[in-house]
Amino acid sequence: MNTAPAMEARACVVGGGPAGIMLSFLLARAGHSVIVLEKHEDFLRDFRGDTVHPSTMTVLDELGLLGAFLERPHSEIVEISGHVGEDTITIGDFRHVPAKTKFLGIMPQWDFLNFLADNARAYSGFHLLMRTEGKDLVREQGRVAGVLAQGPDGPLEIRADVVVACDGRSSTLREASALGPRDLGAPMDVLWMRLSKHAGDQNAALGFIGAGSVLVLIDRNDYWQCGYVIAKGSAGDVRRRGLDAFHSELARTAPVIADRVGEITSWDDVKLLSVAVNRLDRWYLTGLLFIGDAAHAMSPIGGVGINLAIQDAVATANILAPALARPGPVDDGVLASVQRRRMYPTVMTQGLQVLIQRNIVANVLRSTAPPKHAPAILRWLSSIEVLRRIPAYIVGIGFRPEHVGLQR
Ligand SMILES: Cc1cc2nc3c(=O)[nH]c(=O)nc-3n(C[C@H](O)[C@H](O)[C@H](O)COP(=O)(O)OP(=O)(O)OC[C@H]3O[C@@H](n4cnc5c(N)ncnc54)[C@H](O)[C@@H]3O)c2cc1C
Repeated sequence: MNTAPAMEARACVVGGGPAGIMLSFLLARAGHSVIVLEKHEDFLRDFRGDTVHPSTMTVLDELGLLGAFLERPHSEIVEISGHVGEDTITIGDFRHVPAKTKFLGIMPQWDFLNFLADNARAYSGFHLLMRTEGKDLVREQGRVAGVLAQGPDGPLEIRADVVVACDGRSSTLREASALGPRDLGAPMDVLWMRLSKHAGDQNAALGFIGAGSVLVLIDRNDYWQCGYVIAKGSAGDVRRRGLDAFHSELARTAPVIADRVGEITSWDDVKLLSVAVNRLDRWYLTGLLFIGDAAHAMSPIGGVGINLAIQDAVATANILAPALARPGPVDDGVLASVQRRRMYPTVMTQGLQVLIQRNIVANVLRSTAPPKHAPAILRWLSSIEVLRRIPAYIVGIGFRPEHVGLQR
């Protein structure tokens, strides 16, 4: 018999990432009680997604928070450029996206999450339990009726009319539910590291294509967050070749940072992201819903993971908040309509990512000599100003932008 102390709320959200915090904020704002579980003691984890896209800033604007958000330290990127052999190409121009903020905001994810959580605390229904890990589902009469968790003071049972799993791409609740994601494949992994930014460096997101590698530099004001894209499973080979060889590889791929690759003094400075692209065919069981990376892990191409997670949260709140206004458990039809609403943008975005992975990234990673020119399609895209708006729209706004409903 389970003897863990019990808590109760209308909704239990597992995972305090972008999806979980935004959803809980919106449900609490609509007047519902929500318990959010986050297994870490803070949001301070490096090398997470840091891009806040115009679609997310539109949501913040609709919540009356855009001004306060933009007052926090951040950088703004108006275009995405790439250097390939002799070519410099611009593949995304955000100056024309249909949003107030015509740029990508870059803010450390922990700052963004703290900002959301601080604002959510204004609502009495919002309860964030840090250092509390969702371990298993409570099942009762054929439905999920809560979560068994481990908190700082021991085991805990949270009972709720709906449980929303926002626990990321290695979702514990997904495992407990026995729902398995469909794997769409990824030819690459990414090594993440920091390098200093110098006076005179360009303020932009930059991509460099070398022999068998791609290096992406993301402007973080006083440093570059660097993503070195390598063939799937080859991180061990990179390490075996040694740090000196790694420095040379980086410098060859992006000569602009050749003068500072020595700042990487140990493999502890380099974090491996094993890239996965997958999604659930079914996002719910009775009483339980999956959103964000727990429902669909995204490729890093386009840096859209956070923003899809936020869009999922907004759509979920728009559908769940009115359903929670009725007493009793949330029925399957409500959860199915969240999946119906968000499957289309997920499939479209992942479809494009997989297309780019197969036709551009995989070819680059197989190459043994640095390319002389950018692929023809990218040169074409770069040469016509109007066309550069298309990738910016897809990345910045996305396929089905969501708006904060009238749940208040
Ligand atoms: C290295 C890296 C770089 C990335 N770069 C970008 C980028 O530039 N732009 C972008 O948009 N996306 C990026 N992404 C993807 C982006 O971070 C994710 O798509 C996004 O954070 C998904 O949000 P989420 O809320 O669904 O899940 P997550 O952000 O994964 O959040 C899940 C949360 O749940 C918590 N948790 C997990 N299990 C449990 C449990 N059992 N109980 C309680 N809590 C739990 C975790 O601690 C975490 O806080 C990147 C990802 C990585 C790994």
